[in-house]
Amino acid sequence: MANDVIPLPRPTALSEPHWNGCREGILRVQQCQRCKTCVFIPQPCCTHCQSNDLNWLDCSGKGKVYSHTTVHRAPRPQFEVPYVVAIIELEEGWHMLSNVLGCPVEDVHVNMPVCVEFREITDEITLPYFVPTR
Ligand SMILES: [Zn+2]
Repeated sequence: MANDVIPLPRPTALSEPHWNGCREGILRVQQCQRCKTCVFIPQPCCTHCQSNDLNWLDCSGKGKVYSHTTVHRAPRPQFEVPYVVAIIELEEGWHMLSNVLGCPVEDVHVNMPVCVEFREITDEITLPYFVPTR
């Protein structure tokens, strides 16, 4: 059964609030309380000013495609090709790597408005994907 699932993240104490947020349907990012930089992936201190005063910020889940590529050859048999890997620029000014679903791969373009859509993969892991904003 485990072989039918794509490789999944393993939450750590540091990243757990992010993954809990995904399960609750909230896209959550660390934000530095000193310089307000959003920090992703989760870090022990701010990547801009090194402050360790980081809080978790609930985000809108809205953003746009910053960059993208289409994968045509499955890295593992569990992946259905073709699919789009994209860097998403979130409204709050941070970036994350994800997939764009819900439209033909050739329709994905830079600056395309997208919003987060959560998919429950296992009891523990819900992954954030992005779909075109309608
Ligand atoms: Zn900072």
